[in-house]
Amino acid sequence: MNNCLFCKIIKKQIPSEIVYEDEFVIAFKDINPQAKVHILIVPKKHIETVDHLEEKDDKLVGALIYTAQKIARKLGIAENGYRLVFNVKSHGGQIIDHIHLHLIGGEKLGKMCL
Ligand code: AMP
Ligand code: ZN
Repeated sequence: MNNCLFCKIIKKQIPSEIVYEDEFVIAFKDINPQAKVHILIVPKKHIETVDHLEEKDDKLVGALIYTAQKIARKLGIAENGYRLVFNVKSHGGQIIDHIHLHLIGGEKLGKMCL
């Protein structure tokens, strides 16, 4: 956990372009955007992957999705729509082992973009 990049971003040990933050969740711009808008929504609790979620985390998972909705509205991309993606473990393309929800949009996306 100590060596987790996203935990370091949460603790502000590494800079990021934060677009939203509350007690449970932080959201910041992806450093390598795949579309005009590409935000990562991250729980402050270190959980490695979606496969590691437990039932008691259900509110936190809801908070991630609801935060995505709020940010999309704030950025003005909600009306045309956007994509939400969880990559899970290596076959799912997950590189950072701290759960994060990708919010991608601001333009018409291809069928798969991650
Ligand atoms: P994933 O492949 O689902 O694990 O996604 C990890 C994402 O984190 C990628 O889209 C990276 O571009 C992004 N990323 C890596 N390092 C940083 C960073 N320091 N700040 C913001 N985004 C990052
Ligand atoms: Zn972490």
